[in-house]
Amino acid sequence: MSEHVVTRIAPSPTGFMHVGTARTALFNWLYARGRGGQFLLRIEDTDRARSTPEATEAILKGMDWLGLDYDGEVVSQFARAERHAEVAHALLEKGAAYKCFSTQQDIEAFREAARAEGRSTLFQSPWRDCEPSQHPDAPYVVRLKTPQDGETVIDDQVQGRVTIRNDQLDDMVLLRSDGTPVYMLAVVVDDHDMGVTHVIRGDDHLNNAARQMGIYQAMGWPLPVYAHIPLIHGPDGKKLSKRHGALGVDEYQKMGYPAAGMRNYLARLGWSHGDDEFFTDDQAKEWFDLDGIGRSPARLDFKKLDNICGLHIAAAEDAALLQELEAFLAVTDRPGLTDAQRDAMARGMYCLKERAKSFPELLEKAQFILTDTPVVPDEKAAKALDSVSRGILAALTPQLQNASWDRNSLEAEMNGFAEAQETKFGKLAAPLRAALAGRAATPSVFDMMLVLGREESLARIAQAAGDQG
Ligand code: GLU
Repeated sequence: MSEHVVTRIAPSPTGFMHVGTARTALFNWLYARGRGGQFLLRIEDTDRARSTPEATEAILKGMDWLGLDYDGEVVSQFARAERHAEVAHALLEKGAAYKCFSTQQDIEAFREAARAEGRSTLFQSPWRDCEPSQHPDAPYVVRLKTPQDGETVIDDQVQGRVTIRNDQLDDMVLLRSDGTPVYMLAVVVDDHDMGVTHVIRGDDHLNNAARQMGIYQAMGWPLPVYAHIPLIHGPDGKKLSKRHGALGVDEYQKMGYPAAGMRNYLARLGWSHGDDEFFTDDQAKEWFDLDGIGRSPARLDFKKLDNICGLHIAAAEDAALLQELEAFLAVTDRPGLTDAQRDAMARGMYCLKERAKSFPELLEKAQFILTDTPVVPDEKAAKALDSVSRGILAALTPQLQNASWDRNSLEAEMNGFAEAQETKFGKLAAPLRAALAGRAATPSVFDMMLVLGREESLARIAQAAGDQG
C-alpha cells in the first residue's frame, strides 16, 4: 500500500495515563502500523503549572506496557515554543494575523455593550484592520484573522461533515502578551512539522479542529485527515469518571491483565470489525479502519475485558507469558520467582494458562508451585484430609513410588488404586489436591504431579498422610 500515513498521540502530562488516552494511542498505532506508516509521540507539556515529569514517565511506561512502540524521539511541545512563535510572526507578516492592543477591560466593556444591545458577545477587536503605523507602544497579543463570513467544514472521518459558521469563531489569540504561544497554535505547528497526516483523537477536540484549521489555511499548509472518536463511558453509560474507578492504564496493568488482551479489548472499545471479538495484533493492524469507529460512546465492560484477556492468556506462548507474569510481579511489588519456581512455572504454564483471566488468577492456580513446603492446607483443603483420607494417601504412596512418571502411567496407577480401594478416582482427588497444593481448587492432580515431579509429589503426599491433623 503506498498511502503515506503519519499518526501521533499527543497526551498532556498532567497525571496518570488515562485509559481513554491509551485507546486513542492504540487507534493511532493500529492505523499507522497497518499501513506501513509512522506513529509518533508528542508530550503536550506547554502548561507548565500542570505538567510534571512523573506524569510524562507514567505515559512512557503506559505506552511501553501496552507495547505501543513509536517512531523517533519523543517530542516535547514546550521545547518547541520558539518555533510556534515563529509561525505566529509569519502569520503577522502575511497579514493573516494582527497585533491586538485591547486590554482585558476593553474586552469586558465590549462584551457588556454587546450584551446590552443583544448582539453576539464574541469579541471583535478594533485592531483587526488597523494600520501598523497607528499601533501604540503598548503590550499586545497576536490574533488570527479568522474569515468573518462563510463556514468552516470539518470533513470528519467519524463524525461526518461538521459545519461551523465562521461568524461564530472569534479571532483567537496565537501569542500572549508575554510572547508565549498558545496551545492551539502549538498543536497545529507541531502536527505540521511532524508531518502528521491523520489526527485521530477524542471528540472533545472537535471544536478545536475548526479553529486549528484556520491556522493551517492561513499558513497554506495541507490539512490532516480528522477523525474525532467518541469518549469512553463507564458501565452505567455516564462519562468515565473517578467514580467508575480504574481510570489509569497502570491500574489495569496492576490488576494483572495481559497487554495483548488489553490491546484487543481497547480496540473493540468504539471500533468493530464485523462480529470479531478476539483477534491478534496482526489482525487488528490489518483490519483497523476509521470506517469501523462508531459514533456513540463505548462503555467499559469488565466482564468482556476478563473474557478477552482469558482468551489471550490461553493463546499466549508459554515463555512470553511467563516473562509478562514476572513483570507483573515486579510492578505489583510481589516477591519474584526463585529459579526453581520459574522452572516449574515454565513446565506448568500449559495448564496454568487455561481459564485464567488475569495474572492473579494464574498465580492462584500456580499455588502448588509457589507454596512454601511443607504445604500447610487452607481451611477448605484441611477438611479433605480426615483420617480416612490420610490412610488412603498413606496406602497410595508405595504404589506411586514404583510408577512411571508420565500421564498415562499415573492415570492407570490411580484408577487401579481407586478400584482396589473400592472407591472412585474422584474420591482420591480432594485429598491429593490438599496434599499437593494445600488448596481445594487446583489444576488437575495429574498436571500437578507431572509439574512437581516424583520426588516432590511423594514428599508432599507422605507429609499430608503422616503429619496432618
Ligand atoms: N493534549 C491533548 C489531550 O491530551 C490532545 C491534543 C490532540 O490530540 O490534538 O487531550
